[in-house]
Amino acid sequence: MSFEKLSLIAPILRALETQGYSTPTPIQTQAIPVVLAQKDLLACAQTGTGKTAAFAIPILQLLYKEKQAATVPDRHIKTLILTPTRELAIQIAENIRDYGAHTGIKHLVIFGGVSAHTQIQTLKQGTDILVATPGRLLDLWQQGHINLRNIRQFVLDEADRMLDMGFIHDVKRVITKLPEKRQTLFFSATMPAEIAGLANSILTNPEKVAVTPVSSTAEKVEQQLYFVDKSSKRPLLIHVLKDPAIVSALVFTRTKHGADRVAKELNKAGVQASAIHGDKSQNSRQRSLTDFKAGRVRVLVATDIAARGIDVDNLSHVINYEIPNVPETYVHRIGRTGRGGASGIALSFCEAEERPYVKDIVKLIGQNIPVVSEHPFPPGETPVEKPAPVVQMRQSSSQQLDGRKKNNKRKWHGRPQQKQQN
Ligand code: AMP
Repeated sequence: MSFEKLSLIAPILRALETQGYSTPTPIQTQAIPVVLAQKDLLACAQTGTGKTAAFAIPILQLLYKEKQAATVPDRHIKTLILTPTRELAIQIAENIRDYGAHTGIKHLVIFGGVSAHTQIQTLKQGTDILVATPGRLLDLWQQGHINLRNIRQFVLDEADRMLDMGFIHDVKRVITKLPEKRQTLFFSATMPAEIAGLANSILTNPEKVAVTPVSSTAEKVEQQLYFVDKSSKRPLLIHVLKDPAIVSALVFTRTKHGADRVAKELNKAGVQASAIHGDKSQNSRQRSLTDFKAGRVRVLVATDIAARGIDVDNLSHVINYEIPNVPETYVHRIGRTGRGGASGIALSFCEAEERPYVKDIVKLIGQNIPVVSEHPFPPGETPVEKPAPVVQMRQSSSQQLDGRKKNNKRKWHGRPQQKQQN
């Protein structure tokens, strides 16, 4: 299958050639004809499958044809793309800029966390496509800067993430502002009941497409599991980063503070790292991302929310410094590497309390995660302070403790295997 076979127009084919895309991905093959036929779409697809192009390319084509046929210029917003995070919004806008480079279709991106002034000024000039996060869209709509009455295509991107991030109410409010008669494209990586319900309520006879079910992304990424005590995670991270094969690594932590702490420790240890999370200003996040993409910073430490939409070509490693308690998140994380058919490696550091999470992940991906037991920080073997001579007694008790921990260690390596076979 080639892009030509999908009946794409020359200006878009030319842009795709510049991008180096030779073959459509499965979601593109399935979704592009549906969107071009102006039908509603329900797509189960996650980041990394090429889903952005799957909706952006045909929308650009529809708008281009409409523009060619128009007798008077139309400055109204015709397409609304709603996405949960700023990073994702920027990424989508960059893709639209690239795919639409020869179409003359205008786009604009708005998101919170930065001054609204420039966004408002640019909105006044009119745009064909608006890419937005829900909060900022509603703010500017309420202030009367946005007119959604002429929307023909509405794309809801990462609907399940909207739910996770608590934006679903805002999304529903936005939908009430849209014309009833419109084309709706609904994208979600997973379909929890509430999301399926929302899809049902806003789509009309949708064509359904599903690609790479969440579990199968995991197949192309080489995964490794390190059992380690919580207190040894930082030294273990510094140890694994000594491997020059780790050209670039995206390290995931659960909290913003954790991300800051880890980045600080890495820098102290001589590894260039920066942290990216929701408390950082938009400028600081963009700078970190640009430095990372350009290879000036080797390690980017991120929370899940901040990492959403980060699209780094050739990311060699993903490191789960903490194991996510939602198994799908693990798949999203490791899907950041191994993109576009490239091979990637994902390392996961698992402490005692996180073992149930690993069990859930193994169940979801339907495969065992190979355990790396040969490393300097096996669990239960945290170096004990050198005993002072007066504590002869304590020394023996610490030896007992050591013995106990060694027993624990045997269990550590036994149990995960057992779990993975379940
Ligand atoms: P997405 O799922 O939209 O986040 O896209 C993931 C990555 O795949 C992005 O880096 C895109 O530039 C890239 N991509 C999308 N479609 C294609 C294609 N047909 N061929 C090669 N790369 C693609």
